[in-house]
Amino acid sequence: MKLVAQRIRGMQDALPNEGKKWLEVLSAAMNEAKLYGFKYIRTPVLEQTELFNRSAGDTSDIVNKEMYTFKDRGGRDVCLRPEGTAGVMRAALENGLHSKPLPLKLMYHSSCYRYEKPQQGRYREFFQFGLEILGSSSESSDAQLICAGYNIIKKLGIRDVKLSINSIGCSECRAKYVEALKSYLKVHANKLCKTCTERFDRNTLRILDCKESNCKSIINHAPIITSFLCEKCFKSFSILKSHLDSLEIVYEIDPGIVRGLDYYNGTVFEFLTEFSGAPTAICGGGRYDGLSQTLGGPPLPAVGFGFGMERVLAIMKQQGIELLSKSEPLIYIASMDFESSLKAEKLCEDLRRASVYAESDIFSRSLKSQMKYADKIGAAYTIVIGSEEMKSGKSLMKEMKNGIEFEIPLNSSFVKEVLKHIN
Ligand SMILES: [Zn+2]
Ligand SMILES: [Zn+2]
Repeated sequence: MKLVAQRIRGMQDALPNEGKKWLEVLSAAMNEAKLYGFKYIRTPVLEQTELFNRSAGDTSDIVNKEMYTFKDRGGRDVCLRPEGTAGVMRAALENGLHSKPLPLKLMYHSSCYRYEKPQQGRYREFFQFGLEILGSSSESSDAQLICAGYNIIKKLGIRDVKLSINSIGCSECRAKYVEALKSYLKVHANKLCKTCTERFDRNTLRILDCKESNCKSIINHAPIITSFLCEKCFKSFSILKSHLDSLEIVYEIDPGIVRGLDYYNGTVFEFLTEFSGAPTAICGGGRYDGLSQTLGGPPLPAVGFGFGMERVLAIMKQQGIELLSKSEPLIYIASMDFESSLKAEKLCEDLRRASVYAESDIFSRSLKSQMKYADKIGAAYTIVIGSEEMKSGKSLMKEMKNGIEFEIPLNSSFVKEVLKHIN
């Protein structure tokens, strides 16, 4: 088969089997978020490039090399969003959502695009599920968000998850820390990898994220940011810890977490689990109080997190976690001639109108191949209608796993009788 077009490199199709799990994970996450009052927001995939130049900071790797930017037919500089938060903030500000009662709690599920080298588990199109709380600088909003992340992970059944938290302080304490970090790293500069060498001047903090073993061993002995926090940031970090203790959320402090984007400040956190032999973040987030003003908005403190959907699904697969909800039982109604096929079609439709999953033949197949098909698609119950059943006005519904049969009237009480047996 020679198709005129193929899937683009770095993109992937979610096929029905995967798609089913996808929807389940998403609805579990959304249902948890609803319990905290998060409302769904959807923003465009295409934004002005300037939005991300500003929000991510032009020193970040995303802006430097990974964005899908181009000029549209009107000559505007546009780009496919590389992450979910900036667009949500832009939409909130542009539509005046921040003038409604605060805090504003938003959830999103967005496709994101980064032009990276495709590799195992990394795609150029990927999906984020995220929550944002806008308008509150209180530690209790950080704690609430962390709890929501914790509950989502628990609902999904993911095991052996560790919560790591850190504070990267305000701009003042961070500046002092970056100075100290620079003078420490300078001594080891010749041993840093190429990427870290590039980051040294403009994006020093990101060096703490490096996974190269040489860099890692240097980083292990680097000064830690929590000992540079100013009084206000130090106090805020301890208040957050009191909240988490009181909420019985277990955490550890990891001074290595800095998050990849420049707009973070204060609290940062990650939920990690073992994946392919290494601790891997399932969910990461933090505070970004300065983003609104960076985009030209009013002061609007904010905190948020994002789940990588692909990673969540891969981890669930690795941990052998099956689907969360059991699927609806399927009722297959087979027929033997045109007249009974019309009846089967109508009864199927009656079942669907009562929210029951039902199928009938649409190929004029023989009874034998209809029954084979019913078996293949996993019908839990089958009903056969032929001229005899049409005449008597009743048929038998067979439970496939044990062969037990129930008599079912083919009149107006059909749906009621079926429901009685399947529930
Ligand atoms: Zn500070
Ligand atoms: Zn490095």
